[in-house]
Amino acid sequence: MAEKKKDSLNDKLGYKTKLVWEDEKIQKQIASFADPYKDFLTANKTEREVTKWAVKLLDKAGYKRDGKKGKVYSVNRGKSVISAIIGKKPITEGFTLVIAHVDSPRIDIKQVPLYEDSGNAMLDTHYYGGIKKWQWTNIPLAVHGTIVKKDGTKIEVSWGEEDDEEFGPVFISDILIHLSKDQMTQPAAKIISGEDLNATVGTIPLTGEKYKDEKDKVKLYLLKMLNDKYGITEADFMSSELELVPAIKARDVGLDKSLIMGYGHDDRVCSYTALKGLLDLKKQPELTAIVYLVDKEEVGSMGTTGAANQFLEYFISKLSDNAPIWPIMQKSFCLSADVNAAYDVNFKDRFEAKNASFLGKGITLTKFTGSRGKGGASDASAEFVASVRMLMEDEKITFQTAELGSVDVGGGGTVAYLLADRGIDTLDAGPAVIGMHAPNETISKADLYNSYLAYKAFLGKFGSKYIKVAKNTD
Ligand code: MN
Ligand code: MN
Repeated sequence: MAEKKKDSLNDKLGYKTKLVWEDEKIQKQIASFADPYKDFLTANKTEREVTKWAVKLLDKAGYKRDGKKGKVYSVNRGKSVISAIIGKKPITEGFTLVIAHVDSPRIDIKQVPLYEDSGNAMLDTHYYGGIKKWQWTNIPLAVHGTIVKKDGTKIEVSWGEEDDEEFGPVFISDILIHLSKDQMTQPAAKIISGEDLNATVGTIPLTGEKYKDEKDKVKLYLLKMLNDKYGITEADFMSSELELVPAIKARDVGLDKSLIMGYGHDDRVCSYTALKGLLDLKKQPELTAIVYLVDKEEVGSMGTTGAANQFLEYFISKLSDNAPIWPIMQKSFCLSADVNAAYDVNFKDRFEAKNASFLGKGITLTKFTGSRGKGGASDASAEFVASVRMLMEDEKITFQTAELGSVDVGGGGTVAYLLADRGIDTLDAGPAVIGMHAPNETISKADLYNSYLAYKAFLGKFGSKYIKVAKNTD
């Protein structure tokens, strides 16, 4: 019999992270969890589409829309959805919340978008969220969204995803390298400007004797095509929300297929894993468990469907028969489920490796976000972080802790502060992403599955034992 290896003093006293992959028991689950997630990511690219997807799953699982008992959910304007399992304790004793956002960076179409220039029909755009604009050029972009005619008729469109559809994808050009002598000397922020983001959408003119005297025949060809199919006119763009999103499928990446590349992991990866976590709870939790999918995070969380909105209070008030809301908030706990920046081997100097998140090392707990001296960070309490650590260790869930990049290199925020502002103890927790906000982002399959386990554990098991640690403040 081999002698049992003694732990070194370093093992005993030092802090070490580990790879999720080292846990051989869950290798199969990691692989099988990834496939439906890829399908989800390919099929649901906008806030409205993810909300619809969520409602479908909730209905199927027997959640009652606008119910007050058991399993319930409410929808906010088709762009945000909040769902809950009522706990053993009344909601006046607090709740656990996992909040994730369903909007991703993209390129929106202006309200008067269509024009013709030199035989090309073009769509003028206004980008949404933080993007490196040149990354969005010369790739196929699908058009997803909603057009509402002035009589209230609603048209949902998804153009350019599949080859056999009537409408194809569009694209935004960047100048070829051969003519880029001047462009190549420009600062990156200037090589493509916001007003340069015009999509080419057509090149066929309307022909025939009947239209002989019409001008802008390429634009007219498209307007006629849209009118024939949907009965819309140019003015109907005014009351539309059309979004250009990468017309790409989520794919396995890596020769070992350990990663997934796709559009909008930020933050659909957390939306997906959080909702799955709630739906897969087998036992009634001690506290009411809530998953809240919100819109508008990428532009500041404002408006009727963002996390700053009091739709959360509205939902809790309904469940509590209008009990005073603030004492409930004080007794509640939140994981702000959003992605962190994965350590990028090609850009090591942007990270401080001890405090960076690594692909495959499990869900990342981010105590604070913000930039330049924790500016804008809500900063979770040491007590709450300790309680989440304890839960992760009890449930044997691999996790790591990180900041978003090196100090003073940049930074970023999440919705965390908006929940913390309400008096809810809040900690950021989510998988690490390579190339965040690019048309194609990459995550690890191990972190995907691990995040699901973490959210499920928090929603299902965060009770008295952990609350005692979280609330052990002076
Ligand atoms: Mn995000
Ligand atoms: Mn983001």
